Amino acid sequence: MKKRAQLKTSQKEMLRQLPGVDHLLELADRDVLLNTVPRSVLTRSIRTVLENLRKAIVDTGAEIDATLLTDTAVLEKVQEAAGRAMAPNLQPLVNATGIVIHTNLGRSLLAAEAVENLVRIAGRYSNLEFDLDKGKRGSRYSIVEELICEITGAEAAIAVNNNAGAVLLALNTLARGKKVIVSRGELVEIGGSFRIPDVMAQSGGIMVEVGTTNRTHLKDYENAVDEQTALLLKVHKSNYSIVGFTREVTLQELVALGAIRGIPVMEDLGSGTFIDFSRYGLAKEPTVQDSLASGLDVVTFSGDKLLGGTQAGFILGKPEIMDRIKQNPITRALRIDKLTLAALETTLRLYRDEKRAVAAIPTLRMITEPVQAIEKKALRLKAMLEKIDTDRMQIDLVRQTSKAGGGSLPLLELPSRGLAITITGMSANRIESFLRRYTPPIIARIKEDRIIVDPRTIQEDELAIIEEAFRHLLSKDKP
Ligand SMILES: *Cc1c(COP(=O)(O)O)cnc(C)c1O
Repeated sequence: MKKRAQLKTSQKEMLRQLPGVDHLLELADRDVLLNTVPRSVLTRSIRTVLENLRKAIVDTGAEIDATLLTDTAVLEKVQEAAGRAMAPNLQPLVNATGIVIHTNLGRSLLAAEAVENLVRIAGRYSNLEFDLDKGKRGSRYSIVEELICEITGAEAAIAVNNNAGAVLLALNTLARGKKVIVSRGELVEIGGSFRIPDVMAQSGGIMVEVGTTNRTHLKDYENAVDEQTALLLKVHKSNYSIVGFTREVTLQELVALGAIRGIPVMEDLGSGTFIDFSRYGLAKEPTVQDSLASGLDVVTFSGDKLLGGTQAGFILGKPEIMDRIKQNPITRALRIDKLTLAALETTLRLYRDEKRAVAAIPTLRMITEPVQAIEKKALRLKAMLEKIDTDRMQIDLVRQTSKAGGGSLPLLELPSRGLAITITGMSANRIESFLRRYTPPIIARIKEDRIIVDPRTIQEDELAIIEEAFRHLLSKDKP
């Protein structure tokens, strides 16, 4: 209390004026916004608000506005604090970045049908692990296995938690304590700590690097094979490309070598797509079907990248290998959850008809959306925004590129149109920060001190949200 003794009289007076916790709790009971807030949250919010006010009084030497200390003013602060504490941490937002598979923003949005099925299953019991024909225990893995095989031509399949898990599981099953040969040009790191050498170490496999960063030849693999070799591994260069003086061994060549030496071949496809994007005027990305047709033994890929489904990892391959994988105790630790399965099954069913898949799965729809359609959407948004305040707001239609993102189609830039927005007297950083803290948050990019809004990733019903946000921004920030 030594510090308190040094306070000025005016400060002591102000501290005395602050309402007490019990008094505020009583007021809260009679307040419509606060009387439903759990006691623990309310008390914590009150303490925080009072603490902040005390600190302000002490730090400023009582140079704060006395009206901030009235019951009403303090209660208002408590309402704000309790409101923040009660709001969910995970919330939907508007992705105006044009990056379709944005890992930080949840990667893929689900098709409406998939969301519907997820809700249908979530609140009920289901036959998750119960065979309705036999009346016996069943396997959750059987729910999507046939479907995946039907779409891709695989002989056997399993879906686990994510692709990182799928790679770990496959390596652990096939190569624990044994050698795995991989090209130095394919030692991928995916953002967020997935690195091939680290996953390999965790799986118990012994990594044997061959070739160089830019050139790896078949003879590099041939020379490295010995009796301890358990696997030839190929990793898709998801998020980078090696250009110039390069040489890469094809999957077909590796499969041929594997057949001669009796060693299984695995590919980590990363993104994995069932659709040939070159048919939509985009760059050719290897499909899961292509990989399987090469005759490899195991292929793994993600559920929420180009596939446009839920977070999941798929392992597809030869039945005898898949049986070993299914029996690995690690499988249980990586098992897929029932809500994921519910949404995943519906998403996979859409792939039975490619046209339907491209129309209904948002990730595919956004990636294949023609630039003319994007431009139309951009112009509609421009017209909406111009209704607000044409004097201060400068809105230009700009040519730009969107990205598939998510370590997919790495070099692919999707020709796009966007809006570049500036507001007189307001920095782009200030606008970006306002949009980011808006409810719902709107995530936009900044380029050359202008806000860039890319309609490719903005859903139809979100245009009005953006208009409303700018209306708020301009009304509360008059020059
Ligand atoms: C994305 C990716 C992974 C990880 O997949 P997750 O589903 O994010 O776990 C692994 N390998 C490659 C090559 C990838 O591109």
